[in-house]
Amino acid sequence: MVTLRIFFAPSSVDDAVRAARDAHPGWSNTPVQARQSLLAEYAHHLRRPEVREEVAHWITLENGKTFADAMGDVWRGLEVVDASCRAGHDMLGDALMNLSDGIDTVSYRTSLGVCVGISPFNFPAMIPLWMFPLAIACGNTYVLKPTEKAPSASMLLVKYLHDLGMPPGVVNVVNGGRETVDELLVHPDVRAISFVGSNNVGEYVHEIGCRNDKRVQANLGAKNHATILTSDADRVSTIRALAGAAFGAAGQRCMALSVAIFVGDIDDARGWVEDLVRAARGLRVGNGFVEGVDVGPMISIDAKCRAEDIIRRSVDEHGASCPLDGRGIVVDGYENGNFLGPTIIDLGRVAIESSGGGGGGMPAVLDNPAYAEEIFGPVLTVLSVPTLEDAIYITNANRYGNGASIFTSSGGAARKFRHEVEAGQVGINVPIPVPLPFFSFTGNKSSIRGDVNFYGKGGVNFFTQLKTVTSNWQYRGGGTDLGGVTMPV
Ligand code: NAD
Repeated sequence: MVTLRIFFAPSSVDDAVRAARDAHPGWSNTPVQARQSLLAEYAHHLRRPEVREEVAHWITLENGKTFADAMGDVWRGLEVVDASCRAGHDMLGDALMNLSDGIDTVSYRTSLGVCVGISPFNFPAMIPLWMFPLAIACGNTYVLKPTEKAPSASMLLVKYLHDLGMPPGVVNVVNGGRETVDELLVHPDVRAISFVGSNNVGEYVHEIGCRNDKRVQANLGAKNHATILTSDADRVSTIRALAGAAFGAAGQRCMALSVAIFVGDIDDARGWVEDLVRAARGLRVGNGFVEGVDVGPMISIDAKCRAEDIIRRSVDEHGASCPLDGRGIVVDGYENGNFLGPTIIDLGRVAIESSGGGGGGMPAVLDNPAYAEEIFGPVLTVLSVPTLEDAIYITNANRYGNGASIFTSSGGAARKFRHEVEAGQVGINVPIPVPLPFFSFTGNKSSIRGDVNFYGKGGVNFFTQLKTVTSNWQYRGGGTDLGGVTMPV
């Protein structure tokens, strides 16, 4: 039995920001080794199975994803905590001696002050852990505004840090929705904002935050395309990968595959879609706590109704076929649950005009809402094209560019795809190529606002600023003297 105590939620945004502002001088002056040591203890704590289970329990309860998936959610965040333990190394600056007689210059990376994180519902542990551990490792203090739809994982994650002796005010949690975000966006003591969520909200956060002199990094929506070369991709593993990446977590992953483009002969493509339908039909929909369940509920009744409406419009108004329709699924004991079964929308054969080389206009069939909109549900849109160039052309013409994957056993095709595709994360026989935190999470096109990535080197750049100091010291016969500051020519 797990119980959650409310531990530290400032009653107002201003209280939280003030607490973080007041804690900043002491925390930023705390030696980086001590900051790293606290994070190392934190990582050790999170690694304990019973701790991960406690967080995962709340994720499954509030978000609905399966318990195994929720454990993975915590683990992927923990990896960023691990990487934050080497912040001192990553914060090393630059130095150059003797720029003129007695003149040396050194460039330091210093903290910013109060940083804010605004997180989405779909990874209640991983995404907050992309944010505050690295920020505080770099000497900042933090205000986290978790998703109002699944806030308990964030509350627990911050509580653990408090329990380990983190000084008061270093990391604070405020709960709320739009009004809370609005206050944070304009607060004069906030220096930087990390946002992960939808385009509508993220573009607003980016605009208002920047207008109010904040640094803003924003990871936004996605429509991740898979390209499958039907003549040479490994069929069994590719079908399994596609089904897992499209329908796992009820399709509510920013790196979920939501479009599959089958490249090659038209009949071959039909056979692949039939196999995919069979695999998707075999997935079990239900309560995420039940062993053997593959697909949990969607986050809300609104999200489910919106996805169902897109399916309806796609089929009834735009003429797509629907070889697998997950609408109307009923899960025993949860008759009013937000369940939508795996759904496949087939747009059929798509011809790109004068394609040979990937040119020409986009066919009207791609205006179909199942293709054009981010559904963020267990819905996969499939289509087929004759050439790899067509598949790359379609993928690149899409407004989003979070991830793209190719499935093939041809090194040349994989190399061409890797080189030409416009996506932040590229997978080659890897359906969800989220980079480990040695690298950064790298979106492209409308999937990102701002130019500094989350975690990795990008994260350290985001959470630090450069201070460049030039000094002039001369040693002359036992005394210290100032030299001239004339630059050599
Ligand atoms: P969301 O945009 O609805 O909410 C994100 C955050 O913004 C929440 O904390 C929420 O409280 C706040 N918010 C909501 N409406 C607001 C408003 N009108 N004004 C100010 N703040 C507001 O996103 P979501 O539904 O929680 O998450 C799903 C979205 O996140 C999808 O679009 C998904 O693609 C995206 N996402 C992207 C990534 C990535 O790395 N690119 C990762 C995860 C999720």
